[in-house]
Amino acid sequence: MKYPALIIDKQKIKHNTHLLVNRCKKSGINVAAVSKVYCAIPEVAQAMVDGGAYMIADSRLENLKKLRFLNVPKMLLRIPMKSQADDVVDYADLSLNSEIETLRAIANAAQRKNKTHKVILMTDLGDLREGVWNENVVDFAGQIIGMKGIDLLGLGTNLTCYGGVIPNEENLGELIRLARQIENRYNTKLEIISGGNSSSLYLLFNGQMPMGINQLRLGESIVLGIETAYGKRIEGTYRDAFTFAAEIIEIKEKPSVPIGQIGMDAFGQKPVFTDKGKRKRGILAAGREDINVEGIIPRDKCISIFGASSDHLLVDFTECCKEYKVGDIVEFDLAYGGLLAASTSEYVEKVVI
Ligand SMILES: *Cc1c(COP(=O)(O)O)cnc(C)c1O
Repeated sequence: MKYPALIIDKQKIKHNTHLLVNRCKKSGINVAAVSKVYCAIPEVAQAMVDGGAYMIADSRLENLKKLRFLNVPKMLLRIPMKSQADDVVDYADLSLNSEIETLRAIANAAQRKNKTHKVILMTDLGDLREGVWNENVVDFAGQIIGMKGIDLLGLGTNLTCYGGVIPNEENLGELIRLARQIENRYNTKLEIISGGNSSSLYLLFNGQMPMGINQLRLGESIVLGIETAYGKRIEGTYRDAFTFAAEIIEIKEKPSVPIGQIGMDAFGQKPVFTDKGKRKRGILAAGREDINVEGIIPRDKCISIFGASSDHLLVDFTECCKEYKVGDIVEFDLAYGGLLAASTSEYVEKVVI
C-alpha cells in the first residue's frame, strides 16, 4: 500500500446509508445521498445506492459525469454556472436553482436537446448562502412555471452551511407554507420539498420534523455518522468508514520548545510553545498538502498532534504504551474538513476496501 492513504470501507458506507434511508422512510422522506466530500469515488457512490439512496447528489458536474453509470437520478447541488447550461442538461437529471438567467440558459439547452430539465427552486430562509429570499420566492416561481424545457419539481432550502442557522419547526414550516402558496397560486403540484442537509436529521430523531418535508440531502451523516446541527454521533452508524493513514519517517527524543530566536513558521505565523520537557517526537510523511491538522483525530488516544508543515506531520508519542517505530502506520479518524482535504489531495492514495 502507498501512503498517505485514505481508506474507505464501502460496507460501512452501505450500512450507514441503509440505516438513515430506513429511518427517513418511516417519516415519508427520501434520501438523496451526497458524494461531494469524497469527490464521488464511483465505488463509494455505488455503496450509497446499494444502501438504498434513491438519488445521488453532488455539487460538481465533473463528479456527476463520473457517476453516469449509476442507475439512479443525479442531482446537481451547487447553483449552476450559466456557462455550464449544456452540461447541466447532459449530466444532471435535476438541479437546485435560484437565478432566472441561468434557468433560461438551461431551458434553451434542454429545448435544443429535446429534453426537459427538472428543477428544485432554492429559497433562503436566513442562512445567507444560496436561494431566492423567502419573501420573493412565490413570485419568482411564477417566472419558471410554464418555461419550456424546464419542469419545476419542487422547493428546497439549505441551512447550517454559511450562517450556521439550525433548521427547526419554524423555518422548515415556512418552507412548506411557501411550497403550498406556490401550488395554490399557480394551480400546480410540487413533488419535492427538500428540507436541507445532515443538520435537519435531529428534528427527525426528536419527532419534530414538520409534515410535508419529503426529501433530505445527506452527506456527512452517511459518511461520518454525525448529525451536523449539534455535531452528535448518530446511534447505529459507523464513525470510521473513512481512515486516514500515514507512515512514520522519524522518531526522536527532543525538547518541546525550539532552541534559538523564534521568528515565523512556514505559514507566516509566529508560533508559541509550552515547555513540557523532553518529548518523544514523531514525524509522519503527510502534511498540509494532504490534510488539515484540525481535521484529523488519532485513533490511538495517547497520540497528540504538535502541528504540520506542508509535508510533515509532527506528533507526540510520549504518552504511548505502544512502542511506535519508523515504518509503522498511524491511523486517524476524519472530521469533515480533513476528509475534504484528503479526498481532494492528489498525493493521498484512495483505497476502497
Ligand atoms: C453539501 C450539500 C449538502 C449535504 O450536506 P451534509 O451536511 O454533508 O449532509 C446538501 N445540500 C447542499 C445544497 C449541499 O451543498
